[in-house]
Amino acid sequence: MLPSVSTESGTKLAKRLLAKVTHDGSGCWVWKANRHYLGYGRIQVEGSSRYAHRVSYELFVGPIPEGLTIDHLCRNRSCVNPKHLEPVTHAENMARSAPATKTHCKNGHPLSGPNLYVNATSGRRQCRACMVVARARYEEKRRPRTVPPYSDPFTDRGSYDTDEMDAIAASVKP
Ligand SMILES: [Zn+2]
Ligand SMILES: [Zn+2]
Repeated sequence: MLPSVSTESGTKLAKRLLAKVTHDGSGCWVWKANRHYLGYGRIQVEGSSRYAHRVSYELFVGPIPEGLTIDHLCRNRSCVNPKHLEPVTHAENMARSAPATKTHCKNGHPLSGPNLYVNATSGRRQCRACMVVARARYEEKRRPRTVPPYSDPFTDRGSYDTDEMDAIAASVKP
């Protein structure tokens, strides 16, 4: 059980914790000190190493109910802002953090049908329209130097509708 911030030892601990965070402008309190290999902050409390986000929650909010795990609402594991933390069941946490299958790329192109390119090695789902733009930019930068061999994402499109692909590619704002 951690001391409460209203006590002297709690205040000391809170000060020590706050000295290890930096504010990234998004509201997250990003841990800048020692981190667990998964990205969670670590802090020494009374001789033992604890997860910084759990310590922060207990200090500023209250005890974490038995059996519950702390979920990062901001999805930033190194964040210790108690307002971004919520105790949930392990099952709930797993469900929340499962990578949701993206239906669109960051530019709003559909990650489905002929526009979806699945990298055979990594399994990563990529947007063909954006790949075309990225390639054009890359070649623009490289000019007039020799352009190295590049595997064209379009070469294996088989029976895909080329006009549709061109339309998607053309709709991308540079
Ligand atoms: Zn956060
Ligand atoms: Zn895209």
